[in-house]
Amino acid sequence: MENSKILTDALDELKIEYDDKKIELLLKYYDMLIEKNKVMNLTAITDFNEVMIKHFADSLSVLQFVEFENDNKVLDLGTGAGFPGIPLKIFLPNVEFLLVDSVNKKLNFINEVIEKLGLNKISVLHARAEELGHKEDFREKFDFVCSRAVANLSTLSEYTIPFLRQDGLFISYKASIVNEEITNAEKAIKILGAKIEKVEKFSLPGIGDERDFVFIKKISKTPKKYPRKSGVPSKEPL
Ligand code: SAH
Repeated sequence: MENSKILTDALDELKIEYDDKKIELLLKYYDMLIEKNKVMNLTAITDFNEVMIKHFADSLSVLQFVEFENDNKVLDLGTGAGFPGIPLKIFLPNVEFLLVDSVNKKLNFINEVIEKLGLNKISVLHARAEELGHKEDFREKFDFVCSRAVANLSTLSEYTIPFLRQDGLFISYKASIVNEEITNAEKAIKILGAKIEKVEKFSLPGIGDERDFVFIKKISKTPKKYPRKSGVPSKEPL
């Protein structure tokens, strides 16, 4: 696996542990992503080195900051082609994952990946956050919700916070978040029953692009009226 050096160097730099099996699974995922991307739009980034850093190392980078425990339940909201959910699943075999997206054909691809890679304790669901967030089986049931490149922080908070149990953590992946976006989301986060715990900044190995995590902790129940109807959280952020 000579050509995976760019990825293993990046993981070394981020101090994320790996083994040959995990790297092999990521490389298989890369092959499937590139193959399927020829017939449907899954990713604009296709260059091998770029995928290794901007999709894989980026998805896994949260492991620098958060310790997941066995049987924790993690929701990846707006997973698209599986980011960050699939790389995280590969690295956290004993954690329970649910990957959600409103576009079904992307989920068909993810199901193929799950089968081919032999992943366990992972399922996918075709749903919109605004509807799923009201379903009893999902509301206030997750230890973590993560989301990358889905919406502004205010809209995203309304999509994600309803899923968190008390003390659960919403992990927002952001490419260089500006203070204004955080300030604009503060009111929404409070209304939804959560608070900003911390913001962590780091650079993607090799290319130096800045990335930020916003960690948001659930402190009380989300009022029943949230999330609002489909489309409203993005059109009229709280
Ligand atoms: N997280 C992936 C995909 C980002 S694209 C990545 O980082 O590459 C945003 C994805 O969010 C799309 O696949 C879109 O279908 C999904 N999405 C947007 N709004 C949504 C909503 N309200 N509920 C569920 N999925 C949503």
